[in-house]
Amino acid sequence: MLLDPHQSRLALRTALEHRFALLAVNADSPSAVYDVLEAARRCDAPVIIETSLWQLQGRSFGAGDAALGLARYLADLAVLAGSERFAGVPVLFHTDHVKGPVTVPLLTAAVRGLAIDFGGRTALLAPSTVSLDSSELSEEENLRILRLLADAAEEAGRPLTLEVEAGVDDGITPLETARDLIGGIERTHPGRVWLWAPGVGTRHGLDGGEMPAFDPQAVASHRELAGDLTGRPIGIALHGSSGLPETALGEAVAAGVTKVNWSSESLLLRAQAARDYYRGQGDQLEKGRPRFKTTAMDNGLQSFIAERYLPAVEARIRILGGAGRARLVREALAVLPA
Ligand SMILES: [Zn+2]
Repeated sequence: MLLDPHQSRLALRTALEHRFALLAVNADSPSAVYDVLEAARRCDAPVIIETSLWQLQGRSFGAGDAALGLARYLADLAVLAGSERFAGVPVLFHTDHVKGPVTVPLLTAAVRGLAIDFGGRTALLAPSTVSLDSSELSEEENLRILRLLADAAEEAGRPLTLEVEAGVDDGITPLETARDLIGGIERTHPGRVWLWAPGVGTRHGLDGGEMPAFDPQAVASHRELAGDLTGRPIGIALHGSSGLPETALGEAVAAGVTKVNWSSESLLLRAQAARDYYRGQGDQLEKGRPRFKTTAMDNGLQSFIAERYLPAVEARIRILGGAGRARLVREALAVLPA
């Protein structure tokens, strides 16, 4: 089941109350999306599928056109998450790193809801939760765009659930920044923010090696302050988790992280599996070889990757305490008025 912005708040709140985090996988192909949902189903865990601008513009979705990419991504995920197999899996769709000139038009359209035409019938699809990449923005610009998105959603009569981000790669974010950003958006547009992504000493990518700068106390302080500023439970979104050891992930969740982004390691696992597939079976890719066709088919490669990838996703979900927690989210959703 694909959660709407209201339902997503309940899922995030449930995670904070029960101290687990939702794995948020930056999935860059339809088969990666399927594999993540399948891993979540096997663990009975809620899960987040997220995309950055590069996926929306990538070959599998928009082929250069981010708006088309977002529509295709959402439509594919809506069909998949709504299918019988995944009916019991709470799935959130989140816009991850979106930056540059496309940010405002793309995200404004997204929060208003994308009208997708299915042979004369129109479906309005929107992300469950929204964030933007603030790495190249000043605090004022970040706040201005967040308010613009909140206004666009309000004008369209649509709910909006935000993750606010600030300098996630720049060391520990000062608490003063939380007061400016979270306090600022809450003053003009109360009730929208449900995730806060300050820098807590992690870095994106896999080349950072050890991350001695990661500070669970910073997670706790920011979580507490965001809660004080808004008067509701706000979990912390952790960026740059790929390089963190298991113990640090556990500490992060205990301190109040409710969303753990996973991109670099996930990409690497899938790419390495693809490399091994072609290394191992590449000799079949010649005319006259008996298994030429099954080896050449997308399904051959993707099934091989899935076999390697699924256990890794499941392990990640378990580390974050997400296994068996879909039930709690389903129970919370059941009491939400329609
Ligand atoms: Zn990130």
